Amino acid sequence: MKICFASHNANKVKEMNEIMPVGISIVGLDDLNITEDIAETGSTLEENSEIKASYVFDRLGIPVFADDSGLLVKSLNGEPGVYSARYAGPEKNDDNNMNLLLENLRHHEDRSAEFQTVITYIDQKGSKRQFKGVVEGQIIKEKRGNNGFGYDPIFQPLNHEVTFAEMSHQLKNQISHRANAVQQLLDYLS
Ligand code: IMP
Repeated sequence: MKICFASHNANKVKEMNEIMPVGISIVGLDDLNITEDIAETGSTLEENSEIKASYVFDRLGIPVFADDSGLLVKSLNGEPGVYSARYAGPEKNDDNNMNLLLENLRHHEDRSAEFQTVITYIDQKGSKRQFKGVVEGQIIKEKRGNNGFGYDPIFQPLNHEVTFAEMSHQLKNQISHRANAVQQLLDYLS
């Protein structure tokens, strides 16, 4: 069975292919000649992952899944959430996004936060299912570590003394929100 992963990132598509059960092959958007970016106009991770999956299903009618991830900070009512990648607006980049978050959290006692990944899967008949992976933790006061990307240097997962950016790639991949959501999808597809 061929399943589309609604992503233009060839590395992500390759990684998915490597972990799929025998008999399932994953193709990316570029493999299907969908070259445009799919506008992420939703206000939640659930909406955005569904928008991306539905876009492909409506065009091609093939099984597809899409993911969307973000960091949700409790004291900031779930910000930056769906806006994680573009939190600092026109000045958005990992450093500016983290600096803005640290600034906005400066006067808050509660620094608890969680990363979430939502995957929407649409099967060949058009039925939808969503899987959510979550990892809870704290936003620390100063950046630590050089691995990873995004908010990794300021996120310390629960029951760990190090940030995501101080962890090995392997450990992060065992406990991450993304790994968790993908595992749920794999369990379902198997
Ligand atoms: P995406 O949906 O995977 O592209 O994630 C959207 C944004 O959320 C990223 O650009 C990052 O800012 C943030 N994010 C998602 N996952 C992670 C993570 O594992 N570490 C750090 N930041 C993340």
